[in-house]
Amino acid sequence: MNDIAVDVLIIGAGPSGCVAASYLKNNGISCKVVEKSTFPRFVIGESLLPRCMDHFEETGLLDCLMERKYEIKAGARFLKDDIVCNFDFSKKHTPGWDYTWQVPRADFDHTLVKEVVKKGVDVSFGHEVTAVDFDEQGHSTTTVKSDDGNEYRIYAKFIIDSSGYGRVLPRLLDLEKPSTLNPNSAIYTHVKETKRPEGLEGTLITFDVVMDEVWLWVIPFSNGNTSIGFVGPTEFIESFEGTNSERMREMLKISEYYYDRLKDEDFLFEPHIIKNYSKAVKQLYGKGYALTGNSAEFLDPVFSSGVTFATESGLKAAKLITKELNGEKVDWENDYTGYIMKGVDVFRTYVSEWYTGNLQKIFFHRPENPIIKEQICAVLAGYVWDETNPFVKNHNRLVKTVAKVIDMENEMAN
Ligand code: FAD
Repeated sequence: MNDIAVDVLIIGAGPSGCVAASYLKNNGISCKVVEKSTFPRFVIGESLLPRCMDHFEETGLLDCLMERKYEIKAGARFLKDDIVCNFDFSKKHTPGWDYTWQVPRADFDHTLVKEVVKKGVDVSFGHEVTAVDFDEQGHSTTTVKSDDGNEYRIYAKFIIDSSGYGRVLPRLLDLEKPSTLNPNSAIYTHVKETKRPEGLEGTLITFDVVMDEVWLWVIPFSNGNTSIGFVGPTEFIESFEGTNSERMREMLKISEYYYDRLKDEDFLFEPHIIKNYSKAVKQLYGKGYALTGNSAEFLDPVFSSGVTFATESGLKAAKLITKELNGEKVDWENDYTGYIMKGVDVFRTYVSEWYTGNLQKIFFHRPENPIIKEQICAVLAGYVWDETNPFVKNHNRLVKTVAKVIDMENEMAN
């Protein structure tokens, strides 16, 4: 392949890169996507949030996804001991989508990128970014190596780094920073269910809290397969011995609720383990580039916020770059970092307070408070920029305060 010049180079064809590419194409900006692997490819992150439907709708990617008839996710169920906490996305404080999907990502991401290609975006699969140089104006020269061993260069005015865990620019520009969250790990696989119950019980996404800091996700897909995964402190996941299959089978015994349904199912692939998955960076943008999706920040899978942040940040970066290329002034600090971190910080509180136990106290407290529930439900749907929601505006203080009130109530009752 010969060297080429484009306005925007996008690294990675996951949801973040696809949403960004689609927006740029719709707005007449020349862009190229470079993707290391060949699609369809597996990636974890199968439970979406209603908020990301806005992004697909805005970028013209919703119809192709609708056609795939993915399992509808109309809420989320959390189980602990004998208590069930159900969130229903139609009962939330913030207006917006009241459903989303549970998706096998290989098919989902492939559908997205095929649509992007259909729109006319140039996507190269099996092409890996190996080096990037920036000049003083932020214009870049990127070295790309294709699977057949060829090397070529891409000259771009902007780079959107949506390389997920590839974390291309964070690695090359020394932008990595340790996450403030506790080190957690996950082990997961898919099963073809033979004992899936009829009706909603069979298809409901569930987070089974098997120990205070350890939980099992069960994410049924419309193709009959179900994704299952344990998440917990790294030392807990490492404490199981044997092959990954043996560890997973042993862990399944901890889930009283799901053990019978899942114990005899074959794993469709040897369970994967991903250790210490939380990631952070020193900065989200620089002269000539923006980091989006997992290449920027990843917190935790517990509230399924990963893909939604990937599409939120991909879309935001694409919009700001379009403005700048059209000669408008952009305040990247406020309009990108400020905006994205506002949402990330809300979820960071919910993730941290989940593992301190404070949020679990609120979820599993009975009787439930319907107003608090609707406000928290809007957060869990991904509407974390709506400051009319007290559980967004005062996220840190309110979660702690409500948990404390529950503690006091429990003390008085005993
Ligand atoms: P990706 O989808 O990872 O895409 C990045 C792409 O970049 C890849 O295709 C890769 O091949 C390509 N790439 C990498 N390096 C290079 C390179 N050098 N050159 C060219 N291309 C490159 N999120 C949810 O929303 N819901 C969930 O239920 C959920 N569960 C999770 C469970 C676990 C255990 C973990 C760890 C994460 C989970 N996530 C979940 C997060 C989710 O996986 C990510 O947030 C999401 O996939 C990010 O999308 P992305 O577009 O940023 O990156």
